[in-house]
Amino acid sequence: MLLRMSTLFLRTLREDPADAEVPSHKLMVRGGYVRRAAPGIYSWLPLGKMVLDNVASVVREEMNRIGGQEVLLPALLPREYYEASGRWTEYGDTLFRLTDRKDADYLLGPTHEELFTLLVKGEYSSYKDFPAILYQIQEKFRDEARPRAGVLRGREFHMKDSYSFDLDDEGLQRSYDLHRDAYIRIFDRLGLNYVIVSAMSGAMGGSASEEFLAETPTGEDTFVRSTASDYAANVEAVQTPTPPALPIEGRPEAQVHHTPDTPTIETLVDFLNGVGLGRSFTAADTLKNVLVKTRAPGEADWEIMGVGVPGDREVDMKRLEAVLHPAEVELLDESDFEANPFLVKGYVGPNALLRNKLRYLVDPRVAEGSAWVTGADEPDHHVVDLVCGRDFTPDGVIEAAEIREGDPSPDGRGTLYTARGIEIGHIFQLGRKFADAFGLDALGPDGKPRRITMGSYGIGVSRVVAAIVEQSHDDKGIIWPREVAPADVHVVGTGKGEQIEVAVRIAEELADRGVRVLVDDRKGVSPGVKFTDAELLGIPTSLIVGKGLAQGVLELRDRASGEREEIAVDTAVEKVVRSVKGA
Ligand code: ATP
Ligand code: MG
Repeated sequence: MLLRMSTLFLRTLREDPADAEVPSHKLMVRGGYVRRAAPGIYSWLPLGKMVLDNVASVVREEMNRIGGQEVLLPALLPREYYEASGRWTEYGDTLFRLTDRKDADYLLGPTHEELFTLLVKGEYSSYKDFPAILYQIQEKFRDEARPRAGVLRGREFHMKDSYSFDLDDEGLQRSYDLHRDAYIRIFDRLGLNYVIVSAMSGAMGGSASEEFLAETPTGEDTFVRSTASDYAANVEAVQTPTPPALPIEGRPEAQVHHTPDTPTIETLVDFLNGVGLGRSFTAADTLKNVLVKTRAPGEADWEIMGVGVPGDREVDMKRLEAVLHPAEVELLDESDFEANPFLVKGYVGPNALLRNKLRYLVDPRVAEGSAWVTGADEPDHHVVDLVCGRDFTPDGVIEAAEIREGDPSPDGRGTLYTARGIEIGHIFQLGRKFADAFGLDALGPDGKPRRITMGSYGIGVSRVVAAIVEQSHDDKGIIWPREVAPADVHVVGTGKGEQIEVAVRIAEELADRGVRVLVDDRKGVSPGVKFTDAELLGIPTSLIVGKGLAQGVLELRDRASGEREEIAVDTAVEKVVRSVKGA
């Protein structure tokens, strides 16, 4: 392959685009890889298309290796399929909807579980047909609330989506594990630095869904890692270690104290430390009861519920939402308090909740035998030494407290710290949701139908391109890993003599030897501009045919390390071939 800059459809820019905030967005636009067509909608120019195709090839090879078969389904889909699965409504505003000339409703596919299920149902019917893995690499459409950062979060984007079809749970686990291994190989080959995090709260079961996050400070997803092990998890999935139960025997009695003007944890702690109770208190000794209401999908009524967390922590609404999903959750408002006068704002204790049959769930740190300072259910009163398991018995535990830097790692090794990442892949055991919606069965050996169980697995192919740039760039430009680079070597001819002709000749020789070459054969462009472009474009190796040519010397530059080496013109081709192929 030989690309000539003199005719390449490429114009680089010196200035960052005004709407760009993250490095990948800036550099991909400045390097002429992509151009914005509309908010969250991008065109891929020749070099960009090559990178995109290179990423897709790696994905394809590894999907084929696990037995995946590539298909291509339409993006334009009739409403009825998504109506049948419930996702016509569930997707809400994220779905692009349109009507045809006969007024029939259509949508642009955000992901394709429905059509894949129907496709398999149409072709396969016997247990002998299964298992199967089908995939496609295709444009997806989502009307994202906040398209951002160029192709990182687009409204039209490229996704590899695959679907597995199995006869039983063990089969599904096998297909899932195959995908997990394939994803590890894909992201390793792409040179990405990533973690695999459990995407679901523990309540819904360990590894039924995992996300692959490329670690970068610009990522939208926050996750936690351990200082001493490879533990990594979504904040929503962190399981707080439960402290051991303490003996209840011989503990001081619970005592109600008049604590005027102490509606906040801070004022309460100050008060307690001021009245001389013979010991000192911190916010972690208090039990804060946060009142929320939840409502299951399709229900009309809200259920009020108390969530007890140590007073030095806030309730993290995202964690709470994740454990209560698919129910919605909101904080109580004034009218809820008015309707339930036993809830004394600022002084709510466990017992008013339990006595009034409201569900009361606590943080795992509120363990059996732990003693707390908490509300006494009357204004200006708190109770000290209220012991869990003696003075109140919660209805269960809930993971709702915020996770903080320095918290012990759930695997018992090290402490947690937060990091940010970009979700590049997602693997998910769907189970029978879609098979149920469309009646996807296989006839078993006993002649009885068996419901198929499915998995779905995505990789954001276009997002991966940007994630690579996020992780691999410097202030001058992109630094492509060789596997995805649009070319192996960038031959730059600069000077007024025969440099450009020699550069082209070398480029042709290299191309004949199977090297992918970009040659800067532009006339009347200064060396400075050419070098700046070379750094911006980020081809892993550059070969400079410049001033030294008169002495028979060229310069080999490595984009990643910045190393420069002078080489003899007659050995240049051999040397480049070796460094490219050997690398
Ligand atoms: P996110 O949480 O980032 O919105 P998601 O959970 O909606 O992603 P999935 O439905 O699991 O994403 O889609 C599979 C993969 O497609 C994701 O892992 C991600 O790499 C990619 N992806 C999802 N939305 C976008 C988008 N708007 N632009 C580019 N890639 C996307
Ligand atoms: Mg996801």
